[in-house]
Amino acid sequence: MHETSMSQSILRVVLAELQRIDPPPLRLKRVRVVAGSPHPVVPDHVVSAWATEVQGTPAEGSVLELSIAPMRGRCTACGWQGEIAGFACGSCGSLDLEIEGVDTVRLEALEVEDAAGT
Ligand SMILES: [Zn+2]
Repeated sequence: MHETSMSQSILRVVLAELQRIDPPPLRLKRVRVVAGSPHPVVPDHVVSAWATEVQGTPAEGSVLELSIAPMRGRCTACGWQGEIAGFACGSCGSLDLEIEGVDTVRLEALEVEDAAGT
């Protein structure tokens, strides 16, 4: 279940970010995230997993807006570098690729509810 591990990674980053906000927000309303994965993931499944993962945390009930970052890699056969569609080199079709920039979570926006309810 790559989707579950991705939602867990996102939650870790989000909760760490919430702790840096002073005063701490009452709850998270919405978060926009760009995440990368070494495996193909179905964004809808990540969002479903998110709804479960956030229970009991300040992010409970929040909306996750997820974009999947394209995988980047380098072909060890021909030296091609770029975004990988599927699992083959975009130049020579080799499957011998070094994947870069995987397991990344980048927060684009956080919408929180503070103590004043705004
Ligand atoms: Zn190649």
